[in-house]
Amino acid sequence: MTFLWLALAASSAAGESPPLKITDQLYHVGDNDRPEWKDITSIQPTHKSKVEIEFDSKENERKLVLEIQAGGVSEDWKVRLNDKEIGVLKKGEDLTAQYFELQRNALRNGKNKLTVGETRDGNIDDIYVGKAAIHDRPLRDFLGHARVNVLVRDAESGDGLPSRITVTKLVDKKEKEKYKDEDGKEREREVTKKAEELVDLTIDDKKDLVVRKGILYTRKGQASFDIPAGEYMLYATRGFEYGVHKERLKLEKRDERAVDCMIRREVDTTGYLAADTHIHTKTHSGHGDIDMEERVITIAGEGVELAVATDHNHHTDYVPTMEKVGIKDAYATIVGNEVTTSIGHFNAFPIDKKSDPPNADHSDWVRLVQEMRKASGVRVVIVNHPRRSLGRQNAFEMIQLNPLTGESHSGIESLGIDAVEILNGKTLEDDRMLTLNDWFGLLNRGYRMKAVAASDSHAVNEIVGQARTYVASSIDDPRKIRIDEVCDSFLAGKLLVSLGLLTNMRVDGKHQVGDFIEAPGDELAVEIKVQGPSWTRANRVALYLNGIEVASREVPPSEESVKFFEEIRIRTPDHDAHLIAVATGPAITAPFWPIAGGEKKYVMGSTNPIWIDGDRDGKFTCAFEYASDLAARCGLSGRSAEKSLANYDRAVAVQFASIARARIEMEAQEAYRKIMAEADRKLDELLLVKDPAVAKSFKEYLNEAPDLDVRTRSDEKERMARLKKEDEDSRKKRKDAAEKKRKEEDSKRKKRRV
Ligand SMILES: [Zn+2]
Ligand SMILES: [Zn+2]
Repeated sequence: MTFLWLALAASSAAGESPPLKITDQLYHVGDNDRPEWKDITSIQPTHKSKVEIEFDSKENERKLVLEIQAGGVSEDWKVRLNDKEIGVLKKGEDLTAQYFELQRNALRNGKNKLTVGETRDGNIDDIYVGKAAIHDRPLRDFLGHARVNVLVRDAESGDGLPSRITVTKLVDKKEKEKYKDEDGKEREREVTKKAEELVDLTIDDKKDLVVRKGILYTRKGQASFDIPAGEYMLYATRGFEYGVHKERLKLEKRDERAVDCMIRREVDTTGYLAADTHIHTKTHSGHGDIDMEERVITIAGEGVELAVATDHNHHTDYVPTMEKVGIKDAYATIVGNEVTTSIGHFNAFPIDKKSDPPNADHSDWVRLVQEMRKASGVRVVIVNHPRRSLGRQNAFEMIQLNPLTGESHSGIESLGIDAVEILNGKTLEDDRMLTLNDWFGLLNRGYRMKAVAASDSHAVNEIVGQARTYVASSIDDPRKIRIDEVCDSFLAGKLLVSLGLLTNMRVDGKHQVGDFIEAPGDELAVEIKVQGPSWTRANRVALYLNGIEVASREVPPSEESVKFFEEIRIRTPDHDAHLIAVATGPAITAPFWPIAGGEKKYVMGSTNPIWIDGDRDGKFTCAFEYASDLAARCGLSGRSAEKSLANYDRAVAVQFASIARARIEMEAQEAYRKIMAEADRKLDELLLVKDPAVAKSFKEYLNEAPDLDVRTRSDEKERMARLKKEDEDSRKKRKDAAEKKRKEEDSKRKKRRV
């Protein structure tokens, strides 16, 4: 092949040289076995996985721009100069010019080598690339980008704030829309809607910043970025407790713009600390996109006051990195561990960072919990994302948890954990009641299980602290937090669960979340307060007694930080019950805080229980205990117990049914054991002989045969067949989806090239 390189004349008088041409040719690089665009005949496939182009140059004393044209790119193709990676090609179909900034001395005197090829993950597709040149100017100057200098400050103190800056552009997005035609038939059409899209930001100095497409987390509120001329929206935020500064930017080429953002704390959280009990880093969890230094800045930028590091089976301590980055006092931290096992994921904290991580190989729940409890320092154990529909690692499915009764049908008698993560920001359940119902069931069974919310963030765009838990603390200043007191609050259930809303309640003007009300009056005056920043909405508040909704209110949309503040009076139940308030509202889709899963999801704020001593005996009795008591008094027949049961709530009735069912199962098992013993005896009798040779043959046969089992085996066979089919179905689904995507991309490509 021929390389066309050509050094043009030296600097012009204006100090600006004409470009140094590297090549005029366009190359086809790719996988010839499966040409994606064979209709392009003008460019012969020339290179399989990379192309190398040599050219002459001189050492560069200032920053320069490499321009290269590329198209048909759908993988991360690397661009290297003299074997040093300078970036990857932007993905896209059409042939476009792409620009890479060359640092000082990136070029050598004499021979230089430009390489395009090999991809980040080894998958190759067909691309065309070439027509490269070097421009004698820094990138910003060359492209005529505008420079934006942002300062995010606290509206009260005027100080710079660790915060998040989000930059978007309005684009046209095609969407499918359903409509009815003249005959009333439902049809689909394509409509174009305006949508906000994150945009690339070019940053000269990334110190103190975390940078992703359209996202900047700043350590002190300061950031500068370059961006092409155009119209943008800029948002400055600091997580749930603060307002948002919005600014429309209209930028001309080479503009220099200062943006002063003032944001105000809007949500009053006095007496509580904002905790995220579930946070990862790529450094120690091995997946996601965020390293330690970035992680400690994002936590500050979202206003988290207590961060629990929970890398998978690893003890991570943020403190040394916080010191290095210079934010030692921004928030308190706890070393934890997401014990990641085949039967579910569990957070355990605090944990001695020098101790060995608990053995995560146990597939036995009880032994696993023992193992976690044994780990040095551990006080709180949480079951994470217990219903997440990913693989078979859903803890509650593994133990066949019955959400109505909180019993484990797989036979575990005591779960041994302190809390359940009812909201997981990364994988929010479609059904907002799913994990709430599990939790209600567990409480009714007698588990003093606390509810928590956490982000499970593995990446910058999975917002850390979005789902969070407010923990009661006598000390508001994160620098002075006492970890012991915080753990006490976790274990006492002095917790508020928050995803975009914060719900708190007080009964009779004095009883707080976590309290036990020993001598209630005939009525409970439940004062409910729902808060949120100006950019979230609540639309409904409900009160639950033993998990049963007893009152609700619609909430009109409001930009005020107090969304709802009302007293709801309810009759005191005759029997003990736990009282919980839950507020919900529409999902946030704004680009500075989008809820994972988008529009069809929700925001939610839930309290933990206040415990009501309805029967006024000085102690709390759960639904399961009432039902057990009834069973002991009336027997296990529904008929004999129904009169008494009618005086209780549904929670007690379902527990009664569960106890009755367990009894029948036990009796059946006992009967079965007896039948089997009888069957063994009969077999022995039938095969009783005196002749030693015959007896030996009988014995030989019995040794080879399985133990007698008179149950039908079809159940087990059916179950195995079902599992196998599920496996095959999901494999096929994945394969079909991948194939469909590939075909779509292929046809898109072909269409454009025709
Ligand atoms: Zn997990
Ligand atoms: Zn996790």
